[in-house]
Amino acid sequence: MSNRTGSAEHTGDLVADTYDVAVVGGGPAGLSTALYAARLGNDVAMFDRGGGRAAMMMDTHNVIGVTEDVSGNEFLSTAHEQIQHYGADLHRAYITDAARIDDGDDPEFVVSTGEDEYRTDRVVLATGFSDGRPDPPLPRTGRGLHWCLHCDAYMFVDESVFVMGTGESAAHVAMILLNFTDDVDLLTRGDEPEWSDDTAKQLEAHPVTVIHDELAGMKKRDDGWLEAFEFEDGTTREYRGGFPMYGSNYNTGLAEQLNCELNDNEQIDVDDHGRTSEDGVFAVGDVTPGHNQIPVAMGQGAKAGIALHMDLRQFPRSLDEIDETGAVSDTAVPAIAPDQLETAVAHEGHAGGPRDTGTAIEGQDPTTADDWTATDEYQAGTDVCF
Ligand SMILES: Cc1cc2nc3c(=O)[nH]c(=O)nc-3n(C[C@H](O)[C@H](O)[C@H](O)COP(=O)(O)OP(=O)(O)OC[C@H]3O[C@@H](n4cnc5c(N)ncnc54)[C@H](O)[C@@H]3O)c2cc1C
Repeated sequence: MSNRTGSAEHTGDLVADTYDVAVVGGGPAGLSTALYAARLGNDVAMFDRGGGRAAMMMDTHNVIGVTEDVSGNEFLSTAHEQIQHYGADLHRAYITDAARIDDGDDPEFVVSTGEDEYRTDRVVLATGFSDGRPDPPLPRTGRGLHWCLHCDAYMFVDESVFVMGTGESAAHVAMILLNFTDDVDLLTRGDEPEWSDDTAKQLEAHPVTVIHDELAGMKKRDDGWLEAFEFEDGTTREYRGGFPMYGSNYNTGLAEQLNCELNDNEQIDVDDHGRTSEDGVFAVGDVTPGHNQIPVAMGQGAKAGIALHMDLRQFPRSLDEIDETGAVSDTAVPAIAPDQLETAVAHEGHAGGPRDTGTAIEGQDPTTADDWTATDEYQAGTDVCF
């Protein structure tokens, strides 16, 4: 395990900082991993360029304990403060490159902004995806243009809605919306449908109106919400809102640089704990398979945060290790890095009350504590939650 050597402020110095965990992507998934990893005693760097899908939310749905009037940016800025509060460093930066640099069994990586490099024992890719966007005219996101069926279908119960697109997903989402309303149009905008013959038959057997004309214009209400689309054939149709279905562009560039396997949908392949095909590299959230929802992203982030802690933590040592290196001495514990110890005891949530401490842990032998990592044998035998 390594100790961080730099500060949280990075202004383009060519200094390489060293972390236990580097999380790339500061949406709900990566932030959850960062929170768990930091609170489990690891030195964590969060790299986020800003934006992302959560940042697009006008209001937040489906997140228990978070009221709907909370915007995506408010949600994220609270989370950014939270992780920093527990000692994670937040870098407002875009990671352009990632590579494994060790040649032994213990993975070690470098991630780079193009200007600065950071060494890390674990990399977490939480880079999300971008939605394919149709051409204008389009209403404002959250005010007639909606990107998340499970979040926003509830808004359109008993309303007039559109779905835009020509693929299988557009046709299916149009039929799914019939669970919420009896007024659904599927807009192909002058393009040829690409859905299958079976889907065409299915569509014909559902009360969905397919409109093939391209849009010519749009009307908005005074409050900014969509009121109607105008079509090239001169007709106007009123809608409360709808869903464009033009696919997802997964941000997998770093995963490819690290040789992580992708699935047929171009998402990063992971196991149930966010482990990719490459040792030491995790992936969480929308860039992996699964429902694209904040609670799901947060759950994946939490699981990866715990899994990587189980990789990195030092105790208990296995009997084989004890045979090899002897019993654990009093001076080798606690294993928590000095910076993390200082942050934890100064935190208002600390059981002993917030207190100051020096960076050194009295009696600890940092060499012994830092040089050790749990064995695969021990991790494989662990099936309790901690
Ligand atoms: C308009 C809209 C409304 C939604 N509403 C809801 C809702 O109400 N409830 C709900 O549960 N879900 C909602 N969702 C879905 C939800 O936003 C996503 O499922 C969730 O944000 C996924 O989290 P994530 O962390 O995987 O990705 P994101 O939130 O997309 O975050 C990814 C982050 O990674 C950063 N990044 C990418 N590459 C790099 C790099 N190389 N270096 C540094 N940073 C990088 C991006 O800039 C971004 O900040 C909505 C989605 C949209 C688009």
